[in-house]
Amino acid sequence: MSSKPLVLWMNGEFVPETEARISVFDDGFTRGNAVFDAARTFAGKPFQLPEHLARLERSCEALKLTPSLTAAQFIDVANQVVQKNAWALPKYGDFWIDFRVTRGASRDSFSPPASTIVICDPIPFKTRAPLFRDGIKLVTPSIRRTPPSSVSPRIKSHNYLNFVLAEQEVKDNTPGAWALLLDEHGNLAEGSSSNVFVVHGNEIYTPREQMVLPGITRATVMKLARDLGYTVVEKDLDLRDTYLADEVFLTSTSLCACGVSQINGRAVRNGAFGPVTTKILKAYSELAGVDVRKQYLAFL
Ligand code: PMP
Repeated sequence: MSSKPLVLWMNGEFVPETEARISVFDDGFTRGNAVFDAARTFAGKPFQLPEHLARLERSCEALKLTPSLTAAQFIDVANQVVQKNAWALPKYGDFWIDFRVTRGASRDSFSPPASTIVICDPIPFKTRAPLFRDGIKLVTPSIRRTPPSSVSPRIKSHNYLNFVLAEQEVKDNTPGAWALLLDEHGNLAEGSSSNVFVVHGNEIYTPREQMVLPGITRATVMKLARDLGYTVVEKDLDLRDTYLADEVFLTSTSLCACGVSQINGRAVRNGAFGPVTTKILKAYSELAGVDVRKQYLAFL
């Protein structure tokens, strides 16, 4: 943590994070009635902002929230926030860029003005670097992913309690492991901030979009994998599909693609960074202009 506060943008103003204020009556705080999206920089430059802002717009539409900025204005503000905080990046570091839209303080009005916020925060490369050396250990908790009939997983909302409870269970039982949630039918769903892929030969599978957050990285990786000649299929997958897999990897904005070493204590056949995961990570690195694995390993 640096001693100088980072600067964020909130409702029309750039303010130090220590001075940013939101009402304790904001429905985003009291009931999770808010949405967000999280992009990142590569070598300090924002990446795939239009894709993240399109998903933010879909989340806003689902909750009938109206941000105070258009997509073009969000991009302009994001660039300024990144520039103003550039001093805070360590060598080889990069930022997350968060866009948040909260309902506002509904105590005062039936349709309060939404709060619109743009934040950047250094990605914790140091904490996560060992994952790019050893792979991620996954455990499936007893808690299932919220079904689309209750709250659509496609909405990126402030309500992450489903994941918080799942992570608590996994961390209490298997320190260092990450939670991979199953859906209500016992099929693979997603991690608390990542999508999952399972490799069988030249075929790569991932859960159907209806059951998960449609990751921006998931979509990018599906395209890159198809360009590399792999067959990519969205379908229901169960734990047996992971136990028989050659490789398993997770995707997210900050991880890009990171290999999985074990699931529920079973080693993945070809290890965490088998040939397919490695090829995909290379293609992703070329697109991003940064060697993703090297960047993480530089923090070991
Ligand atoms: N699922 C969930 C629940 C997430 O929070 C995230 C992170 N945004 C992802 C998947 C991965 O999405 P993306 O690739 O857009 O970061």
